[in-house]
Amino acid sequence: MQYPEPITKLMESFMKLPGIGPKTAARLAFFVLDMKEDSVLAFAKALVDAKRDLTYCSVCGHITDTDPCYICADPRRDRSVICVVEEPKDVIAMEKMKEYNGLYHVLHGAISPMDGIGPEDISVPDLLKRLRDETVQEVILATNPNIEGEATAMYISRLLKPSGIKVTRIAHGLPVGGDLEYADEVTLSKALEGRREI
Ligand SMILES: [Zn+2]
Repeated sequence: MQYPEPITKLMESFMKLPGIGPKTAARLAFFVLDMKEDSVLAFAKALVDAKRDLTYCSVCGHITDTDPCYICADPRRDRSVICVVEEPKDVIAMEKMKEYNGLYHVLHGAISPMDGIGPEDISVPDLLKRLRDETVQEVILATNPNIEGEATAMYISRLLKPSGIKVTRIAHGLPVGGDLEYADEVTLSKALEGRREI
């Protein structure tokens, strides 16, 4: 069936989002057509504003509307500890726990040879630069407990070995294959508490 051009365009836009196939895209497109015009405009504005006003912190890579982000800029944070995570949403999960007071480093991905993603494709070089410039005593590797996350943690720990910086890995209290962002606060807090040196 041939849809009118504007609907096809809208469907194609939805299909650029993760997890959206042609069926869901069609359902969403027709849902938008039924929405009130001011709701559609507010929705479009939210998309544009988020893209325009949000950027990545030049220090830690967390998503932010100020640079550096509120965490890097906070003088009360413990600057001797850096917690390395894969995505900005992992920082949000860690912050919800309210127990960690150090800084973060967001890798924006994990090493995955199968997908052709190496250390240079995620922000490992930025992490190394930070560790050279800042006085860091401990790096906590809080990458996800899956193959890519473990490989990334191993790679970074080997890389940091000669530097003498203490490198720890969060405990395996997290469900295997479960992403950090889905862990509840108690599980995450236990995983952080039970971290061991690697
Ligand atoms: Zn930051």
